[in-house]
Amino acid sequence: MKSWDVIVLGAGAAGLMCAAEAAKRGRRVLLLDHAKRIGGKILMSGGGRCNFTNYHIEPSAYLCQNPHFVKSALARYTQWDFIGMVEKHAIPYHEKTLGQLFCDESAQDIIDMLLEECKDAGVTISSRAQIGQIERLGGNDDTSEAEGFSVATASDTYTCQSLVVATGGLSMPKLGATPFGYQLAEQFGLKVLPTRAGLVPFTLQPVDKATLEPLAGVSLPVVATSEDGTRFSENLLFTHRGLSGPAVLQISSYWQAGEQVLFELLPVGKLAQGIKDHPNQELKTWLGHQLPKRLVEALFLREEWASTHITNKPLKQYVPKEIAAIEQLLSAWAIKPGGSEGYRTAEVTLGGVDTNELSSKTMMAKKVPNLYFIGEVVDVTGWLGGYNFQWAWSAGWCAGQAV
Ligand code: FAD
Repeated sequence: MKSWDVIVLGAGAAGLMCAAEAAKRGRRVLLLDHAKRIGGKILMSGGGRCNFTNYHIEPSAYLCQNPHFVKSALARYTQWDFIGMVEKHAIPYHEKTLGQLFCDESAQDIIDMLLEECKDAGVTISSRAQIGQIERLGGNDDTSEAEGFSVATASDTYTCQSLVVATGGLSMPKLGATPFGYQLAEQFGLKVLPTRAGLVPFTLQPVDKATLEPLAGVSLPVVATSEDGTRFSENLLFTHRGLSGPAVLQISSYWQAGEQVLFELLPVGKLAQGIKDHPNQELKTWLGHQLPKRLVEALFLREEWASTHITNKPLKQYVPKEIAAIEQLLSAWAIKPGGSEGYRTAEVTLGGVDTNELSSKTMMAKKVPNLYFIGEVVDVTGWLGGYNFQWAWSAGWCAGQAV
């Protein structure tokens, strides 16, 4: 068949959800993807167990130039709706931490569930599809009556009334990411906001490498704060390449090149308490009970410590000015990352199709009737912890009701 009601480009999280929902409404749906295997990113997600949503989904957990944009979709298709689908398919799951829901067994369960939903609703899925030219039938100008689209692939040319773009962002090109969706948006005159890697590890500046690289493998709970004041209480992990762990991934989405990040290693007041409880203990010994010992050694080797001229001695011997300086260093340890690891390892792409171009209820382009953008290709990025998949499900569901 060459003529479809709906063609969905990209069979990732958002595309699969949209295709299934549209087909449930009786629409004839073709889902195209260039990958050999459907759902590659879902399979890799959550360490192979797919953190598919979060109990605490809320609009404030999303970065978007228009923070109100996500509200409608997240309210129309909620985490409870997706959990309902997971339970309907009898997929065992558990809460890991902070409301994050993971499959007990494998992320493949989520892929199988979505493929089954698509199959039951009658979606036709075509993988290994090389998508070429896309044209609006009836002309590309904004004023012409919309008559649908033509979609050329290497093997065929199809037509459809509604075209849904769900080709994702730029993160993990190894898994098939391309700038296709952004280019298509621009082809149709829609604004695309600059993109950058999000939920991504930091690399180190050369000046930090000597002291921090040997800490690879050290992990500790911190509060990470970006220059705009956003804070996350999670774990920091030192790696051979730089800084990672959930605290760093989260804060990376709020970090701009050249900015510093503050890490609270110990809260203010902890040292004062230590002085009361262990007046005769030396600072290094006491710190070694509060923080990983390798980190304490490294901190003493660093320039910011050397420049305070604070020596190691029994806690009771420190004068108030020294105590304040130590507390400052420990509660707001400033690191200026050299950069991020980029799209190679980033979980998401910040920026993308400007939400001002789209209806927040249906995801349809305001200027181009029957053209929809859903999922990560849109300028909506969630926190770590199942928020990004929930956005894909919610946006996909909304478009699925409208196409
Ligand atoms: P995608 O899932 O990326 O799907 C896009 C699809 O489009 C792909 O199938 C791709 O092959 C296809 N495509 C791209 N270009 C073309 C083209 N030119 N022609 C044809 N097809 C094309 N989020 C969470 O919420 N929880 C997690 O546990 C989690 N873990 C992650 C782990 C990793 C390693 C990564 C990289 C991301 C993770 N994410 C997680 C983020 C989440 O995977 C994405 O936010 C989500 O997949 C976005 O869905 P999407 O459908 O918009 O895009």
